[in-house]
Amino acid sequence: MKKTILFSVLIFSIYSLNAQTTKSVMAEVNPDSLLISLEILTGEKPTKTLGTIPNRNTTIGKEVTRLHLERELEVYGLETQIENYRPTGYNVVAVQKGVKYPDSSFIICAHYDSVDDYCADDNASGTTAVLEAARILSQYKFEYTIIYALWDEEEKGLIGSYNYAKTAKENNENIVGVLNMDMIGYDGDEDYLFEVHIGTNSINDRLTNELTQVLDNSDLDIEKSIQIPGTDRSDHASFWRQNYPAIFITEGFFNDDFNPTYHSSNDRISFMSLDYHHQISQLVIATLFELAKFDSISSADNSVDIVFDIYPNPTSDFLYLQKNKNVVIADISVYSLSGRELLSFESNTNLNTVDIANLQSGVYFLVVNTTTKRFTRSFVKL
Ligand SMILES: [Zn+2]
Repeated sequence: MKKTILFSVLIFSIYSLNAQTTKSVMAEVNPDSLLISLEILTGEKPTKTLGTIPNRNTTIGKEVTRLHLERELEVYGLETQIENYRPTGYNVVAVQKGVKYPDSSFIICAHYDSVDDYCADDNASGTTAVLEAARILSQYKFEYTIIYALWDEEEKGLIGSYNYAKTAKENNENIVGVLNMDMIGYDGDEDYLFEVHIGTNSINDRLTNELTQVLDNSDLDIEKSIQIPGTDRSDHASFWRQNYPAIFITEGFFNDDFNPTYHSSNDRISFMSLDYHHQISQLVIATLFELAKFDSISSADNSVDIVFDIYPNPTSDFLYLQKNKNVVIADISVYSLSGRELLSFESNTNLNTVDIANLQSGVYFLVVNTTTKRFTRSFVKL
């Protein structure tokens, strides 16, 4: 019985690496991964290497937060930058280049600054969803470029996103859609209603239509309320101002279900509805998956590439690495399905085997960074 379960998990994970669909991507959005990320951002749990994040309304709190965000995004192999657009402001921006249209980008974004301690719903909730999008979508190739952006100084007047959008316009950058999430975790009346603020410009229609279609074809329980024009009190408005297509996804802002702990240190994870937060994250990530267009050919090229592989699989004590001579390994890590790093090895060890004897039975990911490429392989530890 145990073996049957393990093998069916293996088959599922191979399938999910090779044949991505909107539904499979939705299924990859992991409640545990979201919760851990929320706990870290609100200082309820320490980061992996930077200690505990202090109040994100303080200079030090913001600094530790942005370093944490940068490291998280870099772990997924994304080219990440902290953009210091003015002395007090720092956006964190990671880019995943599109295969067909590298100069046209979809942005998934949220602000990471806050006005008080914790501020779980406003806006660790949106920030976490952006990180989860990066964790999942960075494994695949897309026709369009995806930009994962975390804005600073939203609470001071949308300053981080304003600077980004303005600079993008000045540089003639082709931003084809922006999905902004701010406060997506509170549902006091438990009606699962959320809002999509779409402005009045028809250039936003494509984003609204795609999100609606993904929702209608899903098993999600959340219910959409379209707001026209909706509020301009979050970062999507910075893109509206520059005439870039953008929509805003949020909780019951106009539907009489506004978070009573808003802008106070009572805005804690315990007041959030984690299931509601998970489902909105699923919807937005799956919508981005549709918009950016999964490139099955180059994604398949990537996964059937035989310059690197592992064997045997399933295995009990060791994984052997099969690789070309010109593959220079920089580092190797083993992750749990929820994205937690469990083992890591540096380049100075001449690794041809990875000792996994101490892992518990289950499915894991082996991630190998080479000087030019990143390989991810799932394996089953018996
Ligand atoms: Zn906010």
